[in-house]
Amino acid sequence: MIEDRTEDAEAARDESSSRAVAVCADPVRAGLRGRCPRCGQGALFDGFLKVRPACTACGLDYSTIQTGDGPASFIMQIAGFLVGFSALFVEIKFHPPMWVHLVVWLPLVVVLSLALMRPGRGLMIALQYRNQR
Ligand SMILES: [Zn+2]
Repeated sequence: MIEDRTEDAEAARDESSSRAVAVCADPVRAGLRGRCPRCGQGALFDGFLKVRPACTACGLDYSTIQTGDGPASFIMQIAGFLVGFSALFVEIKFHPPMWVHLVVWLPLVVVLSLALMRPGRGLMIALQYRNQR
């Protein structure tokens, strides 16, 4: 009899913990994937960087979430660090002509910035939502 209650309590605990995981998404994972910071299912973006008015899955209002230029400043620092120090390394190690730097590093910094912008903005929004509550 006591064992049955223990099993029921364990089953209820397992059920509630799995429900909690389903409701509360991992903010890093949801942000990087461009998903809702609360449920992790609905789309966060409408287009490349435009944030939707609300979550399509759980209805979370995104209008209260404002990241401003935060993601862009982090992305510029990350891309600038990677490309700047890579260019410095290549210059010191191989001494290529200047046109090689222009052909390699300028497109790379643009592509890197654009590639990081959406996940960076999603991550910033998810972390802001998670830490505001
Ligand atoms: Zn949602």
